[in-house]
Amino acid sequence: MLGEGILKGLSTTAMNFFASFFTRERLTTVQYPEERIATMESARVFPFLVYDGGDWEAGLRCVSCQICEKECPPKCIYIEKSTDKKPDAVGKPQFYPTRFDIDVSVCMSCQICVEVCPFEAIKMDVDYEVSSAERFQGFLHDRKQLAKSNEYYHQIHPTEAASVDAALEADREKARAAAAAKAAADAAKAAAAVEAAKVAKTGPVDGGANG
Ligand code: SF4
Ligand code: SF4
Repeated sequence: MLGEGILKGLSTTAMNFFASFFTRERLTTVQYPEERIATMESARVFPFLVYDGGDWEAGLRCVSCQICEKECPPKCIYIEKSTDKKPDAVGKPQFYPTRFDIDVSVCMSCQICVEVCPFEAIKMDVDYEVSSAERFQGFLHDRKQLAKSNEYYHQIHPTEAASVDAALEADREKARAAAAAKAAADAAKAAAAVEAAKVAKTGPVDGGANG
């Protein structure tokens, strides 16, 4: 029927309006900021940088590859890459960002930076209270402001964070297995070289007996 959707919407609004005088469930608004509605797991506002462990600076997952900076449509990410490397949370030497700023007054919350990051280093936050009286520097969030722990990530996006942790652990397991296989192959190669050197020094066993 023509206009059925509009009538349904209006009746729901009317039902909520009158019933809200009698039942709290029908009250669709809250007295913000005293009251807040909990954000949904799928909510996204601005990006943040994930770190592992207790030290935000040492534990940043970002390796300063700058892919997100290049892919960000409004170009609101500014990164400066380190010239040296330092161990990441699992002890692997990595470059790191000496500067990582996001201008949240320009960010359009598209999540492209999150999608393109190969290191699970940048995720979407649910914090929407980022107003500032200073209209320029107040919205340019630096790496310290952007850094939030993996535990925080688990609090706001538990399902997604658990699957990211599982994928990272699978990658680490693969790396451990590859390192163990390489160490075994190197050891076998070294043992074969020692054996070959011994044979070269003493000569073949049969040749010695015949001579
Ligand atoms: S969410 Fe989109 S606009 Fe915001 S920093 Fe990421 S890529 Fe840029
Ligand atoms: S957040 Fe990810 S994509 Fe962006 S620079 Fe860091 S590692 Fe690269």
